Amino acid sequence: MNPLDFKIDAKSGEARAGVLTTRRGRIETPVFMPVGTAGTVKGIRFEALESELDANIILGNTYHLWLRPGIDVIKAAGGLHRFMGWNGALLTDSGGFQVWSLGALRKITEEGTEFRSHLDGSLRFLSPEVSMEVQAALGSDIVMVFDECAPGEASHEETERSMNLTARWAKRSKDAFDRLQTEGGDTGQIESEGLSGAQALFGIVQGAGHLDLRRNSLEQTVNIGFDGYAIGGLSVGEEKSLMFEVIEDIAPRMPRDVPRYLMGVGTPEDLIEAVARGVDMFDCVLPTRNGRTGQAFTSRGKLNVKNAQWMNDTRPLDESCGCSVCRRHSRAYLRHLYTSGEMLASILLTHHNLAFFLDTMRGVRQAIRSGDFPKFRREFTERLDANGE
Ligand SMILES: [Zn+2]
Repeated sequence: MNPLDFKIDAKSGEARAGVLTTRRGRIETPVFMPVGTAGTVKGIRFEALESELDANIILGNTYHLWLRPGIDVIKAAGGLHRFMGWNGALLTDSGGFQVWSLGALRKITEEGTEFRSHLDGSLRFLSPEVSMEVQAALGSDIVMVFDECAPGEASHEETERSMNLTARWAKRSKDAFDRLQTEGGDTGQIESEGLSGAQALFGIVQGAGHLDLRRNSLEQTVNIGFDGYAIGGLSVGEEKSLMFEVIEDIAPRMPRDVPRYLMGVGTPEDLIEAVARGVDMFDCVLPTRNGRTGQAFTSRGKLNVKNAQWMNDTRPLDESCGCSVCRRHSRAYLRHLYTSGEMLASILLTHHNLAFFLDTMRGVRQAIRSGDFPKFRREFTERLDANGE
C-alpha cells in the first residue's frame, strides 16, 4: 500500500483543491494543520479539534518530544497517537528548525548538529538518522526529512553550502527512513492494527531568498524522490514580497501529483496567497500563540481583545463566524476574561482563531471547486482592512 494517496479534483489558475488520504483518513486540501508542539495543541481539547473544528491532521514536534517526555515514554505508550489520545493524522517535523530557532545550536558538522537542550542545558546530538529514528518511534503518518535552515538574509555562498548540506541530509534521511520502515521502527504501524500503509516521508526545499539555489534544491530533492515536498526556511524574517517571490517561482515547479507543503506560514491572507501560487498544506503557530496573547483573527482583520474600545461591546469577535465562541460570547466578556488573567480567555480565543483558520480553508476549497476562487481571494483581502469593526 502507498503511504499516501493524493488526488486533485479542481483547479483555479495554480490553486488546487484535492483529497489527501493518509493511513489515518481523508484530508481535504488545501489544509491548515494546527500545531501540537509538545503533544498538545495548546489551549484546546482534542474533542473540539475533532468534532467542532473538524481538524483531520495536526503537527507534532520531534525536538520537543524527544527532549521531553523522551522517546522511551512515547514508545512504551504505543506511539504518539496513543500517548496523546489522537486518532487523526499526525505530521512530525524533523527537529532541525527548533535547534536553529531556539538558538540552542552549538555546532553543525557533516554528521549532524550538536546543541544544548533548552530544558536542562545538556549536550545533545541530532542527525538525519536520529531524527528518522525519533519520528519512527513517534509513529507519525507524515515524517519530514532533517534539514538545515539558512537565515533569511544569508549570503549566496552561505546559503549554497547550507542547501547542499540539506540535500545530503535528505538522502541520508531517506536511507535511514527506508531501513526503519523495513525493520518495523514505525510504532504507528505496529500498534494500530488494521492500518494500511507505512509512514510517508516529505523532502524539504531550502535556499533562502535565492531563486537559483531554490531551484537547485528542488531538483536535488526531487531526484531523491519523496511522497510529498515542502518549502522550508520562509517566514524567518525576510521581506514578505521575497517570500511570495520564492513561493511563486518554486511551487509551480514542484511535482504536480503529490502534496506541496509550505512550512510555518502564516496569516489567513498569507495562506490564501500561497494557495493561489499552488500550495496545498500549511501549519503555523499564529492562531494558537496569538490566541494566548489576546489577539483574534477575524474576517474583518485582527482584533486586539484587550483594547478598551470593546469594554461594552456586545457583538461577537466576528459576526461572520459560526464557531461556538462567537455564538455564545461577546467582545466585552472576552475582554473582561483577558484583562482579569482568566485562563478561559486563552482557551476561547484559541478556539475561535483555529475555527477561523480552518473555516477560511474550507471557504478556499469550496471557492476553487465552484470556480469562484479569484473573487473569494479579492473579497477576503478587502474585508481585512476593517480592523475588527
Ligand atoms: Zn468565532
